[in-house]
Amino acid sequence: MEQPLEQQDLDLIWHPCSQMKDYETLPPMVIDHAHGCWLYDTHGKAYLDIVSSWWANLLGHTNPVLNARIKAQLDKLEHVIFANFTHEPAITLARRLKALVPPGLSKFQFHDNGSAAVEAALKLCFQYHQQTGHPERQKFLCLTEGYHGETIGALSVGSMDLFALKYKPMLMETVHVEAPDCYRCPYGQHRETCSCPCFAKAEEAFARYGKEAAAMIVEPLLQGSAGMRVYPPLYLKKLRALCDARGVLLIADEIATGFGRTGTLFACEQAGITPDVLCLSKGLTGGYLPMSLTVTTRKIYDAFYDDYGTHKAFLHSHTYAGNPLGCAAALGVLDVLEQQQILPRARETARWLTKEMEARFAGHPHVGEIRHIGLIHALELVADKKTKQPFPAAKRVGYQLYKKALERGLVLRPLGDVLYFNPPLNITREELGQAMGILEAILSD
Ligand code: PMP
Repeated sequence: MEQPLEQQDLDLIWHPCSQMKDYETLPPMVIDHAHGCWLYDTHGKAYLDIVSSWWANLLGHTNPVLNARIKAQLDKLEHVIFANFTHEPAITLARRLKALVPPGLSKFQFHDNGSAAVEAALKLCFQYHQQTGHPERQKFLCLTEGYHGETIGALSVGSMDLFALKYKPMLMETVHVEAPDCYRCPYGQHRETCSCPCFAKAEEAFARYGKEAAAMIVEPLLQGSAGMRVYPPLYLKKLRALCDARGVLLIADEIATGFGRTGTLFACEQAGITPDVLCLSKGLTGGYLPMSLTVTTRKIYDAFYDDYGTHKAFLHSHTYAGNPLGCAAALGVLDVLEQQQILPRARETARWLTKEMEARFAGHPHVGEIRHIGLIHALELVADKKTKQPFPAAKRVGYQLYKKALERGLVLRPLGDVLYFNPPLNITREELGQAMGILEAILSD
């Protein structure tokens, strides 16, 4: 007799970002089908996907519009080499996005996952300086607690020890600028009113390394993997000005923040800045298909444009670059966002959610901070609210709560001891109410 799927899985599959031994006590949930914000396992149990399946699902699972677009595209063209060849869905997507991304970004490279978009951005900035008379500009700056993916270049500009420490000897040397930390602000400021004294750390780093720096990469407004750390637009504005003054390129990694997650289509909009390079993925295809974009300016593009023999071309490729199915999904996303007025509605839902969250959780003795941007709402749990002392990491408080929430049908997947909602943008108040009810129950446990 065949073994249950859970057991077959454990015999065969090595899951991402997991200590496989944990699966002894928490076997994988075998998902059979999904609809909207809900996942259904093979036993018929429903789970509310409040984290959008790794922040990717933008408009609900098996969204009828996206399904129809992908199915229609599938019968026309599933994939084609993207060097020398092209297709209408990619062209239309680039044309439509050009009108939506921060002004001045006009050249679109297609890749197949977030980390790949970051790798391309780093190489692009490096090569740009090589070809514009500044071969000495080879260093990359990034923020502490930043996250940009798991490949070697992306890990090098990430600074979460949890992911990078073991690989340090393999990584390139980068300059880590102390990131804003609004909850435990060392300058005693408040996020809403602050003048960013922490920006002095960036100024110091630029004073020291500015002449050797190729680019600085940031997650605009929200350091997601660090625990949904929200920081003010002013910091980004200052960073844009500093990069300009020092001839350093600015890479905005909007892989997690793009497509309405922070309340605007792109987080950069809130600071009124245009980065030199923008990385997009996740919500780009509604979380359906692996596709990413590295978007840049005409100025950068021109530095690569020359006769073949000058060897200035950007010789970077991924097999699935420009995949037509991904493009069809992405075009569907843009249509749904526009036609169903998703962003204004999500902003309203977000305002309501903030009030509800504060009413229900602000008084809890272990909720240190409730922070939010767009529909993303995070609770940081602490051992001591006054001192903001975290729980000992060995207690794995977040993980224990994750398991409890799963029992009750909520997929929380905390970041350390930070519990958060980052749901599809068209989630209903009723569904959010259900999620908050489960959160209340597990917290009072
Ligand atoms: N950058 C950011 C800001 C991310 O949040 C992520 C993924 N969580 C990545 C890059 C990497 O994307 P991928 O997992 O598709 O490689």
